[in-house]
Amino acid sequence: MTRVFSGIKPTGHLTLGNYLGAMRRWAEVDQHRSDALFCIVDLHALTVDHDPARVRRLSRQATTLLLASGLEPELCTVFLQSHVDEHTRLSYLLECVATDGEMRRMIQYKEKAARERLRGGSVRLSLLTYPVLMAADILAYGADEVPVGDDQVQHVELTRDLAVRFNQRYGHTFTVPRATRPEVAARVMNLQDPTSKMGKSDDSGPGIVYLLDEPDVVRKKVMRAVTDSGRDVEYDREGRPGVANLLDILAACTGGNPESLAAVYDSYGALKKDTAEAVVEVLRPVQTRHRELCAEPAYVEEVLRIGAEKARASARPTVDSAYRAIGLLPPV
Ligand code: ATP
Ligand code: MG
Repeated sequence: MTRVFSGIKPTGHLTLGNYLGAMRRWAEVDQHRSDALFCIVDLHALTVDHDPARVRRLSRQATTLLLASGLEPELCTVFLQSHVDEHTRLSYLLECVATDGEMRRMIQYKEKAARERLRGGSVRLSLLTYPVLMAADILAYGADEVPVGDDQVQHVELTRDLAVRFNQRYGHTFTVPRATRPEVAARVMNLQDPTSKMGKSDDSGPGIVYLLDEPDVVRKKVMRAVTDSGRDVEYDREGRPGVANLLDILAACTGGNPESLAAVYDSYGALKKDTAEAVVEVLRPVQTRHRELCAEPAYVEEVLRIGAEKARASARPTVDSAYRAIGLLPPV
C-alpha cells in the first residue's frame, strides 16, 4: 500500500491556503487510499521567534482542526513530531549527508531569514537546517508520496536528493518520495498582496482567510481582495494575479475549473461575492466539527497518544537501519 506522509507547522492559525493546498486532500483522498501519517510538526515552529505558550496552544488547535477537517484516526495516524524521537535522531544523520550550500539555496530559508532580519531579530540555525529535519520526517516513514502545496515542492525535491545520496553511499535504506500537489489552489495567494503566498505566519491579517474566521469576516476579506483596475474577468496568473487567485479559490471550493469559471463572470463584484459564499460553505462543516471537538479535549489527547505510538513503531526500524548503514555500532 502506498505510504503517505505530510505535516503542518503550528506557527499560526491555519489558513484557507493550508486547507485547499494540503489538508482537504489528506482527508478526502489520501487517508482513504493509502497508509497515511499526518504530523503536527511542532519542532519546526521553533525555527523562528516563538512564544512557548502560543506554540502549545497552536499545536492543540492544529490537531483539533485536522480532525475537524475530516481526518479519522481509524484510517490514518495523527501525531506530534516532538513525541517521536526518531525525527531528530534521523535528522542528524541527514545533516551528515546534506551540504551547507544546498541549505542556503532553499527559497523559504532566504525569504524567512530576510523577514527575521527585517524584524530586527537574528536567524536561528534551525531555520537553515529545517529542510533536513523535514527530510527526516518523510524518510523515517518510508513515504512514497508527500501531498503538499506548491511552496513545499522544493523541500521534497531536496528530500529526494538526500535519500538517493544516502542510498548510494551507504546502501539502500530509504524509499525515495515524491511530492503530489492539488490540481487547483496549489498556491493560494494573499488577498491583499496576490503576488505573495497566503501564509499562516505572515503579518497581513486582512489578506489571510483563517479556517476559524466567522462567515462575516470571510466575506469582508474576500470582498476587499485586491484585484486590478481592469474589468474583464480573465484567468491570467501573471498579468492579473488577484483575479486569478479568486478564480482558483472559487474553483477549488466548488470543484470547477478556473478558466471556465472566468467565462461565467462579467464583473469582479459578482466573482468576489460568489467566492466569499463558496469559502463560507467550505469552512462551515469544519468550524462546526471544530466546536464539537473543543468540548472533547480528552479525545484529542488520546488521538495524539495512540498516533505517537503507531508512528514510533513505524519509524524506528528505518531509523535504526540508517544508524547501522552509516557506520554506527548498535548499542550493546
Ligand atoms: P508558515 O508561514 O509558518 O510557513 P504555512 O501557511 O506556509 O505556514 P506550513 O505549515 O508551512 O504552512 O505548510 C503546511 C501545508 O500547507 C504545506 O503542504 C504547504 O505546502 C501548504 N500551504 C501553505 N500555504 C499554502 C498556500 N498559500 N496555498 C497552498 N498550500 C499552502
Ligand atoms: Mg510554510
